[in-house]
Amino acid sequence: MEGFLLAHEPALRLAAFAAVLAAMALWEILAPRRARALPRRRRWPANLGIVVLNTLMVRALFPAAAVGMAFSAQSHGWGLLNQYAVPAWAAAAAGIVLLDLAIYLQHVMFHAVPALWRLHRMHHADLDIDVTTGARFHPVEIALSMLVKFAVIAALGVPPVAVVVFELLLNATSMFNHANVRIPAPLEPALRWLLVTPDMHRVHHSVERAETNSNFGFNLSLWDRLFGTYCAQPRAGHEAMTIGIADFRDAAECSTLAGMLAIPFRGGTPPLQIGHGKDALHPR
Ligand SMILES: [Zn+2]
Ligand SMILES: [Zn+2]
Repeated sequence: MEGFLLAHEPALRLAAFAAVLAAMALWEILAPRRARALPRRRRWPANLGIVVLNTLMVRALFPAAAVGMAFSAQSHGWGLLNQYAVPAWAAAAAGIVLLDLAIYLQHVMFHAVPALWRLHRMHHADLDIDVTTGARFHPVEIALSMLVKFAVIAALGVPPVAVVVFELLLNATSMFNHANVRIPAPLEPALRWLLVTPDMHRVHHSVERAETNSNFGFNLSLWDRLFGTYCAQPRAGHEAMTIGIADFRDAAECSTLAGMLAIPFRGGTPPLQIGHGKDALHPR
């Protein structure tokens, strides 16, 4: 199993992406949560175009990928989990949970540091939120988060199989929790108790700054509750809330490949100010 996962990582990743995209897109048609602000044809070409661009860039810049770093850590005995005789399953489980915590903390930093927010606001500038938003990130953000992931893997000694599982999982859950889908009332709160649901992450895409600066988690909903960044529902309600960033409302800029790549270099939207008034990190 482990050997298969590692040997076929790129193919598995592509197959998982295509399968989750198709499944969530179908779910969006069958049970949509909100009316679309823009038709799919206005947003999807650029959102999917950036995925192709990012995939090619990551292959070119980091041919060994995150799993290569995990093999290096393993063979050199680097990192916390390699210092102790931890059973393989426990090391893998701990690695996956700790990587999820690291991604949560990185996401908070991408909102808090002005230069990083410039990169990350491209994700938030999508005028609508659906399955494709989950894969829409600026290439420089992708490259930086790859370097952060390398450092975390080396410092913790995350096993290679855990890295592959985590990356497949993160990809799938990111598309799931951005999807414009309705999950029936008794199921949604039960699911949210453990995982970040579409309704939970949609709050993070609100134009209201206090809501943008909440719900940073991608997989486990635990981190937002633990660190006081949890916001249960958008003030305006899921149907009426406005998605995006107040200063970026033009589809020609927010939903074209060239416009999206240029978003970090435009004016507007100061980043989150931690600890100052209503724009502060907003525990509710
Ligand atoms: Zn964000
Ligand atoms: Zn998002």
